[in-house]
Amino acid sequence: MAHMTLAEVRDIARAILTRAGMDEHGSDVLANLVMRSERDGPRSHGLRMLPVYVQSFRSGYANPEARPAVEHRAPGLLRGNGDNGYYQIARQAATAGLIAAARENGVAAFTCANCHHLGALRFDTEPLAEAGLVALGMVNSMSMVVPHGGKRPVFGTNPISFAAPRIGTAPIVWDQATSVVALMDVKMAAAEGHNLPCDGGLDPQGNPSQDPNAILESKSLLPFGEHKGSAIGLMVEIMGAALAGGTLAIDNADRAAHGGLNVKGGATLIAMDPGRFGNPAFNDYVSRICAEIDGNGDARVPGDGRLSRRAKAEISGVALSDELMAQLTGLT
Ligand code: NDP
Repeated sequence: MAHMTLAEVRDIARAILTRAGMDEHGSDVLANLVMRSERDGPRSHGLRMLPVYVQSFRSGYANPEARPAVEHRAPGLLRGNGDNGYYQIARQAATAGLIAAARENGVAAFTCANCHHLGALRFDTEPLAEAGLVALGMVNSMSMVVPHGGKRPVFGTNPISFAAPRIGTAPIVWDQATSVVALMDVKMAAAEGHNLPCDGGLDPQGNPSQDPNAILESKSLLPFGEHKGSAIGLMVEIMGAALAGGTLAIDNADRAAHGGLNVKGGATLIAMDPGRFGNPAFNDYVSRICAEIDGNGDARVPGDGRLSRRAKAEISGVALSDELMAQLTGLT
């Protein structure tokens, strides 16, 4: 096992991205996300994602020097074009405008097309909650999830994130895939040589399976919560790709020509200013709901696990397997 401080994680990520041809600003944005993923989780989207970022640039699939454009289409509506780069660069460019528009109008949305997203969505919504806003983020990805009862994939793992300010402590921030498991977790289980804890996809014969290799072969994940998760996957496909004009999950065929590790999609990020909704006791409501969850058996507020992981990683850094270190060394 090797060991790195968070500063070292950010430095090695930045060095690898720069070496892969990414410009300074983009490298800073992505290296910061890699560091945050190692710090808060999910670690599957931290340093382990660097080979995929690098491949996306070297294959020419993603633009390492993206100059995203953000257009104000209406008082509460910002539309982004990611210039075929990573969404988070466009999102960062739009954040100040989105916050100002939400404060002005009560609600504002940012949609983005022509963009890639490989990261955890929690980092898209958290800055909005830190600014006192309620936030909802959605991104679609390549077709890997079979609709409930279906036989072939239609949706991406289509993650969704929610964040809300909380008085006296860090915001509520959770994010999750709409598949039973995220694709990276299937890949990690395959790399680590163990089964998934439950049926996460279909095997090549179309049977539910816990075997990550069988699932990777069929390229078919299951939606979480049967028909309910399947319906939310559909919503993310519409909110992500259709609303933004991004790439539908079923239209990611182009990626195969570039080596097929990365995906393009579309994203929508909605910000709401609770101060404009007319309930002066909003903060009390949130505090009361959270108090009912915490201390309720083993329940905890979703996403709060990140805060204890963050506190620990800030003091102790992170441990890295020899296999991951070898991968990173090969990229520097
Ligand atoms: P998880 O199932 O690991 O976690 C989902 C959420 O639940 C997290 O916010 C987690 O936060 C929280 N949580 C976990 N355990 C508990 C618990 N016992 N009680 C309350 N809350 C809990 O996420 P997924 O595997 O579905 O997704 C992993 C990541 O992959 C996400 O960050 C997602 O954004 C990302 N993703 C990105 C995609 C892309 O295309 N960019 C595609 C799909 C996924 P915490 O543990 O901190 O409390």
